[in-house]
Amino acid sequence: MARTHRIFNSRRLIVLLSLLLVAGFFATTLSSYYVSKQAILDAIIGRELPLTSNNIYTQIQKDLVQPVLISSTMANDTFLRSWVIKGEKNPNEIAHYLEEVKKRYGAFSSFFVSDRSSNYYTGGGVLKHISSREPRDIWYYRVRDMKEPYEINVDPDLANKDTLTIFVNYRVFDFENRYIGATGIGLTVDAVRRLITDYQQRYKRTIYFTNTEGKMVLFSDQSGRKESNLRATQGLNKILDRILLEKHGSYQYVAADGSVNLVNVSFIPELKWYLFVERSEEEALAGIRQTLYFNLVICLAVTLIVLILTHIALNRYQRRIEEMASTDKLTGLFNRQAFSILIDRRLAEYRRNPHPFSMLLADIDQFKSINDQNGHLCGDQILNQVAQLFRDCLRDSDIVVRWGGEEFLVILKDCGLEKAQQTAEKLRQDFEKAHFEGCGKQIKVTMSIGVSQYDEAETIEQTISRADAGLYQAKKGGRNRVCTATST
Ligand code: GH3
Ligand code: MG
Ligand code: MG
Repeated sequence: MARTHRIFNSRRLIVLLSLLLVAGFFATTLSSYYVSKQAILDAIIGRELPLTSNNIYTQIQKDLVQPVLISSTMANDTFLRSWVIKGEKNPNEIAHYLEEVKKRYGAFSSFFVSDRSSNYYTGGGVLKHISSREPRDIWYYRVRDMKEPYEINVDPDLANKDTLTIFVNYRVFDFENRYIGATGIGLTVDAVRRLITDYQQRYKRTIYFTNTEGKMVLFSDQSGRKESNLRATQGLNKILDRILLEKHGSYQYVAADGSVNLVNVSFIPELKWYLFVERSEEEALAGIRQTLYFNLVICLAVTLIVLILTHIALNRYQRRIEEMASTDKLTGLFNRQAFSILIDRRLAEYRRNPHPFSMLLADIDQFKSINDQNGHLCGDQILNQVAQLFRDCLRDSDIVVRWGGEEFLVILKDCGLEKAQQTAEKLRQDFEKAHFEGCGKQIKVTMSIGVSQYDEAETIEQTISRADAGLYQAKKGGRNRVCTATST
């Protein structure tokens, strides 16, 4: 016969439920994570980085407009031009003038280079003679020959310990419009550098400038950049040519450490510099990634709680249903359905450990007349008390089954035929002596019992049938007795 039949296959149900919950939670959590991630990346590429870039660009332009105006004023200054035309007689005068300009406008340096004498004047007097053979002076010859009235150039400033300086180099003409030299002021890039540092600290962005070859020209100390040329920066080097060609745009590259970086590039024509504003995707997404992990933990916790509760509820329900399915409603004894399961277990146990066991088939004598005389309800009360007497008289290890209407089957564990006969006889006497009560009346109940011992050469049905034969003999022999069938 079959093993225990569970109403639900609870393990399969739990697995299915966990799969559903986990799949549902993961799908919603991950999809919302990816939507947020995309929104954040779009915001970084579309708004944040360009905005930072614009702000820095605006600051640079603001920083440059005034110096260009000052330099223009210097180039058109009557005193300066007259002094040159008159033969650059007293250098103190031009030094005084340049120092005044520097002080008044808070410039970093101010200068005039005379084309005729090749003198480089600053507030301190003649700084040096320029020469076309000196690489550091090349800028002057470039300015002398250029068509535009001025240029903005970034160079180390000799007058200020080679500090990186933005120079506005203005061409100067005499009153007949002949070229006579170059003048202008230099301003430190500190303001821009401070701005970069501020952005880096506040918004966790890496900001730096390169020249048209991709060489770093300006960056904050915190940028963490070690390479002096982006051609040596892994990831960026692959797209550098495209960046330099396109001049403006947003890009993505994977750095040497495997992190993904988003970068916005814009070209600053005044400086011929490229402004790079970078943000690591990892850092940008750290917040929502934390939320993702938190959500996943909550989902797992909810899944676990749901599964545990389901498991408890199922087990309880399963037990209740099994109980209901295996118990006789009236007497609370096992029913025939339970018997098939119990006897399977008993036989399996017997195979492991072949201790003899026996069966009793007991039937109430003349129960029909008890019913007829006292009513069916009264009969039920008697059946209930009979069941209780079985329970009281037998061991816990013995099993009593309500076999039919007023018929009971007992499985006696570890019990040979002789002992079973004694037990049956004792039972019979106990029933005979017991006082049963139905609808307030004392009712006599006697029991006829058939006995058989299980023989492994036969089926359990044959054992029962032998007990039944014993019962038949007991009835035939006048009832209220115990009989053992001699043969099947
Ligand atoms: P015998 O000594 O030959 O066994 O006689 P009997 O009257 O006990 O046997 P029979 O099989 O003729 O009658 C059994 C009766 O048991 C008939 C039936 O109405 C009654 N019975 C069966 N189930 C129940 C029950 O659940 N409640 C009540 N009150 N009576 C029941
Ligand atoms: Mg009967
Ligand atoms: Mg009967």
